[in-house]
Amino acid sequence: MNFRAVSPSAVASDGWDVVVIGSGFGSLFFLHEYLKRHPQQRVLVLEWGSHHSRQWQLEHRKNSAIDHGSTISKDGAKDWNFNIGLGGGTNCWQGMAARMHPHDFELRSRYGVGFDWPISYDDIAEYYDAAEAIMMVAGDKEAGTVFPGAGRFPQDQHKFSATERLLKAARPDTFFAAPQAKLSTRVGNRAGCCNNGTCSLCPTGAKFYAVENMAELWGAPNLAICTGARVRRIEATGPKADAVVFESEGREFTARGELIVLGANGIHSPFILQQSEITDGGPGDYIGEKMLAFVEVFLDGMDHFDGGTATTGYELSYIDGPHRARHGAVQYWTNNSFLWGGLRLDPPHRYREVLPLGITVEDLLFKENTVVDDGGDVPTVRHAGFSDYAHKGLDFAIAQIPEVFSALPIEAIELRRILPTADQIQGSLRMGSDPETSVVDAGQVHHRLRNLLVVGTSVFPTTSWAAPSLTCAAMSLKLGTEI
Ligand SMILES: Cc1cc2nc3c(=O)[nH]c(=O)nc-3n(C[C@H](O)[C@H](O)[C@H](O)COP(=O)(O)OP(=O)(O)OC[C@H]3O[C@@H](n4cnc5c(N)ncnc54)[C@H](O)[C@@H]3O)c2cc1C
Ligand code: SF4
Repeated sequence: MNFRAVSPSAVASDGWDVVVIGSGFGSLFFLHEYLKRHPQQRVLVLEWGSHHSRQWQLEHRKNSAIDHGSTISKDGAKDWNFNIGLGGGTNCWQGMAARMHPHDFELRSRYGVGFDWPISYDDIAEYYDAAEAIMMVAGDKEAGTVFPGAGRFPQDQHKFSATERLLKAARPDTFFAAPQAKLSTRVGNRAGCCNNGTCSLCPTGAKFYAVENMAELWGAPNLAICTGARVRRIEATGPKADAVVFESEGREFTARGELIVLGANGIHSPFILQQSEITDGGPGDYIGEKMLAFVEVFLDGMDHFDGGTATTGYELSYIDGPHRARHGAVQYWTNNSFLWGGLRLDPPHRYREVLPLGITVEDLLFKENTVVDDGGDVPTVRHAGFSDYAHKGLDFAIAQIPEVFSALPIEAIELRRILPTADQIQGSLRMGSDPETSVVDAGQVHHRLRNLLVVGTSVFPTTSWAAPSLTCAAMSLKLGTEI
């Protein structure tokens, strides 16, 4: 992959039309549209990590030379997972590319809990289509019965397993092929998915990885990339952000820009604002994510694991409904890989008679869960753990399994564990209409500094049940089109 690399000193000697901080989902999908519409502008990306090719990642069995855990400190048991490197989370993600439900944007007005988003599903519906096209999502052509307008996926859905075919026949309105940014059919040098389930390190290129699969963006003549550039702060005068101060090889440099785009993830973006003393709306507050649990459903005389990708199906009976006033929305995924579970070892030869289920449960976000600048070199994330809202949602989800999966010959159900993180940081730079309680407005523009945009999942006011990156990408495409 070729891109125009610039050195820190060259960056500092020039003025830029746009300075983008970070190169993950939020930044890259913004740039995908913005660069096309502003070919005369000079755009700079400052990225803390390096470019690690897919080959490098496979050889080193990791996504980055920087251990993400060393870049934060924790106050609380909860883990957080993200990637520092060119392409951000597009390197390590699993490719789950679900849309949110229209009611996810109206949690407060419909169910009296959480917050409403200042945008609606309809506002981003056309950009969902565009994001699915860019990522070449394989999905279910009938998805439009739940998500208005969905179903025009560029790739056919991945093959269901025998168990999933039964589930689809029994619950056609709520069980669907899971949307995956993983090819079901080869395109060029991207092979179709081989279902080995190591998706954070995909050997075949089936999974969408922005550094390889957004060639047009990286080749834009007006784009310059400076890697190894850790952004420390943003300088502002009055209502305008003027410059970005970054550190490279122990020295500080300054990049001046007319438009500044902050996309450094849900922990580092608020830390940058805190270090800049730009504290309007409480950057860092309300950080959180959904709960992710892993359950094994033991089957009597029926084999599983013959589906086409690592996670083939999702069950949507409880992603919405009046229960959300009492506990979180619930999504079940049917897994086809041994990533979290294993074969059955109880005799005789019943190895495949088990269905690994992932369960995601929406959680509420609280002000007290926050990113703190406590004077150290890295941000501290203070989090009290998942709330009762999520725990009650998980209890409900497990209680419903016999009914929801009644098409299967269930022998036993066992909760294996609640994972320490769902790998999805949300909520620390929320979008909203009130500058007292949110950092950016409905257009992702900082309430006071009107030439500062925030991109990425940090702007989400709620977690929903859905993996966030497709929604983040759609919002960024909209922003890159409209700004
Ligand atoms: C293992 C794993 C699996 C996942 N699977 C899925 C999935 O299947 N589906 C899904 O929807 N989501 C998944 N996610 C979540 C997904 O990765 C995030 O939702 C997404 O990356 C968030 O986008 P973002 O733009 O906010 O941040 P990121 O994509 O993390 O991008 C932030 C960028 O900023 C850079 N950066 C950070 N700090 C600085 C700084 N100070 N200066 C300069 N640059 C900086 C980072 O290096 C990175 O390039 C997964 C995450 C992980 C870790
Ligand atoms: S299952 Fe294998 S081929 Fe498919 S996306 Fe995951 S790692 Fe890549």
